[in-house]
Amino acid sequence: MVGTTSESGPALAHEAAPRLLSGSMKRPIYLDNNATTRIDPAVLAAMMPYLTEEFGNAASSSHLYGWQAAEAVETGRNQVARLIGGAAREIVFTSGATESNNLALKGAARAFQGKGRHLVSCATEHKAVLDTLKSLEAEGFESTVLPVDPDGLIDLDHLRYAIRSDTILVSIMAANNEIGVLQPMEEIGRICREKDVLFHSDAVQAAGKIPVDVDRWQVDLASLTAHKVYGPKGVGALYVRQRDRRIRIAPLIDGGGHERGMRSGTLNVPGIVGMGAAFHVAGAGLPEEACRIQGLRVLLWNMIRSGLKDVILNGSLEHRLPGNLNISVPNVEGESLVAALRDVAVSSSSACSSASMEPSHVLTALGLSTPLAFRALRFGIGRFNTESEIEHVGELLVRKVLELRAASPLYSKS
Ligand SMILES: *Cc1c(COP(=O)(O)O)cnc(C)c1O
Repeated sequence: MVGTTSESGPALAHEAAPRLLSGSMKRPIYLDNNATTRIDPAVLAAMMPYLTEEFGNAASSSHLYGWQAAEAVETGRNQVARLIGGAAREIVFTSGATESNNLALKGAARAFQGKGRHLVSCATEHKAVLDTLKSLEAEGFESTVLPVDPDGLIDLDHLRYAIRSDTILVSIMAANNEIGVLQPMEEIGRICREKDVLFHSDAVQAAGKIPVDVDRWQVDLASLTAHKVYGPKGVGALYVRQRDRRIRIAPLIDGGGHERGMRSGTLNVPGIVGMGAAFHVAGAGLPEEACRIQGLRVLLWNMIRSGLKDVILNGSLEHRLPGNLNISVPNVEGESLVAALRDVAVSSSSACSSASMEPSHVLTALGLSTPLAFRALRFGIGRFNTESEIEHVGELLVRKVLELRAASPLYSKS
């Protein structure tokens, strides 16, 4: 497809691509699908026309280029809305879920400060929520961060007690990015309605992996991103409830008034087309794919725990995303284990905080000791993983841990 419209430009890309893709180095098995996912070929195919001939600005209302771009954006908006049980007019496109979380929390706090200045969230949230709360505290807002139990779940009575008369919003994620734990969304939604506070959820890891229904959950705001669902990076959305209650939030970015004034800036048409296609593909295959991926997760977990009796599972097994496995391996040096597993792309702690030397805030919130938090491995199984890959990784992990322990004077007796 590339190269059909231009003689000179794409030729360069053709020359560069094989060298990038066919090096002699064998690429590691990718098991880090909670950090990001490979773009689905059908998604890329849907995007290509909008990176080439269909280059119009969706806000250009006086010619065909603009109309076609606007139509593609509306298709994407419908596809995103459909996966989560919302309406197209409730979708505000953003640059990703970090922006969506910022927009939800800052936008609601600033718009509703007449009601109060208090927000409620929980300790295992993504940094895009926790750091936004800190930033709001500097503006004079207050927040209550709920603890979680050793399984990673919040206590609904804690939530009830935390909501005050001046509480504006509760933000609780649907599925955790490190440990895959699923919070009880329907119950949280019911409590928020009873207490008449807004309910925001970071639903990034849930969308396309488990059924998401904004009405059943009674969420008012929900953050989404394309690149965790086999779509492109740099595009996301915020669901903003409009049908039964019209939520108005303050924008973070002012300008041309795009996205009903909630997010100005020329729309990322190819990105939005890709996000729509990715959400459509995910919705069409959801039950079968979730079942297959959960089967691979069960296989991996069974191999690991039958080979290594002392391995610790982090987070609830029952209330968990199908493809996530997060374990701590005691009596082995974390760094040596990561080095021994260099043929496997897994996350040791969260990809988002592994640059810092702090243990994961999610694992410490479960009550894990710092050494065990540093010995955690996150496996994120996804659409493109096969059973033979999982068998290979399970066998390799068990063998390497036993070898490292045998070689270490500290652990050789265990
Ligand atoms: C990846 C992720 C984000 C951030 O999304 P970006 O689109 O990368 O900014 C937010 N929340 C959760 C739970 C995530 O997994």
